[in-house]
Amino acid sequence: KQTKAVLARFQYYSQELNTRLAEKVDLERLLKEAVDAGQFAMHYQPKVDLCTGQIAGAEALIRWQHPQLGMVAPDRFIPLAEETGLIVPIGDWVIRAVCAQLARWRDDGQRIVPVALNLSALQFREGNVLQTIAASLKEHGLDPRWLEVELTETLVMYDPQAAQQTMRNFGDLGLRISLDDFGTGYSSLAYLKRFPFQYVKIDRAFVTDITQNPDDAAIATAIIAMAHSLRMGVIAEGVETEAQMQFLRSRRCDYLQGFYFSRPVPAAEFNAMVQEGRQLAPADAAATAVRT
Ligand code: C2E
Ligand code: MG
Ligand code: MG
Ligand code: MG
Repeated sequence: KQTKAVLARFQYYSQELNTRLAEKVDLERLLKEAVDAGQFAMHYQPKVDLCTGQIAGAEALIRWQHPQLGMVAPDRFIPLAEETGLIVPIGDWVIRAVCAQLARWRDDGQRIVPVALNLSALQFREGNVLQTIAASLKEHGLDPRWLEVELTETLVMYDPQAAQQTMRNFGDLGLRISLDDFGTGYSSLAYLKRFPFQYVKIDRAFVTDITQNPDDAAIATAIIAMAHSLRMGVIAEGVETEAQMQFLRSRRCDYLQGFYFSRPVPAAEFNAMVQEGRQLAPADAAATAVRT
C-alpha cells in the first residue's frame, strides 16, 4: 500500500517535471523568435534623489509581450535565457534599444537622465558587451555618462579578477556601475571596494520590512554608512510606502526606486514624468513641514 502511494507520488512528480520540461522547451522556442518578432520592449523606472526629490535616473527593465502568452515577467525568462545563451542576443537588443531611445529623446530636445541597464552573468563573461555598448554609443553620438550598468554581486564574485578588469574597461568608457541586489550574496562591502562601483543598490528583501524589523533596519543603516565611508552612493530598491521612504531619508540614503514613486513604465510615460518635473517633496520641504 505504501509502495503504491510512493509510486503515485513519483508519477505525479515526474508528470509535473515533464510538464515543466515541455514548458521550458516551448518557452525556449518562443524566446528564440521573440527578438526578431519585435516582442520585447523596455520599461523605465525612475530613481529619485532623496534630497532634492527629483528624478535622477532610471533603470531600464525588459518586458516580453507575447501575442498568446501575454506579458511574461523577466524572472520567468531571464534565467532560461541565461541557461540557453539567448541572453546574449537579447542583451544586445536591450543595449541597442536603450541607446536608440536616449538618442530619440536627445533629438527631440528632451531633458535626459542617465539610464541603467542590467547585465547578466553570461553576457558579462562571454558576450562582447563592452564593444556592443561602445559601438551603440558611437553610432548615436551619445554621452557615455547617460548610460550606466547594474551588475550583481554573484556575477562579480564568479571570477573576481576578470570582473575587475571588465569593470575597469567600463569605467574607461565613461560608464558608471551599480552593484545590484546587494545583501543577498555573501560578500562584504569592504571586499567589494576593490571593484570600481559608484553605487550600491540595497536589495528589496531588506527594504520591505525596514520599518518593522529591527534587523533589516540595522542592515540597511549599516550598508548606507559603509557605502558612504567608501565613497559610494546608495539606492534603495523596492520602496513602496511613505514610511519606508522617510526611514531611508532619515538614514541619509541617496536614492529611492520603487512603486511608492512609480512602477516601471513605457518610455513615453517615463519621459513625461521627467519633463514635467514630477518629484517627491524635497527633504528640506519635508523637514519644514514637520517643524511648522
Ligand atoms: P532587478 O534588476 O533587481 O530589478 C528590480 C526589480 O524590482 C524589477 O522587476 C522591478 O519592477 C521590481 N520593483 C521595483 N520597485 C518595486 C517595488 O516597489 N516593489 C516590488 N515588489 N518590486 C519592485 P522586473 O522588472 O520584474 O525584473 C526582475 C529582474 O529581471 C531584474 O531584477 C533583473 O535581474 C532582471 N532583468 C530585468 N530586465 C533585464 C534586462 O534587460 N537584462 C537582464 N539581463 N536582466 C533583466
Ligand atoms: Mg537591476
Ligand atoms: Mg535589483
Ligand atoms: Mg533583482
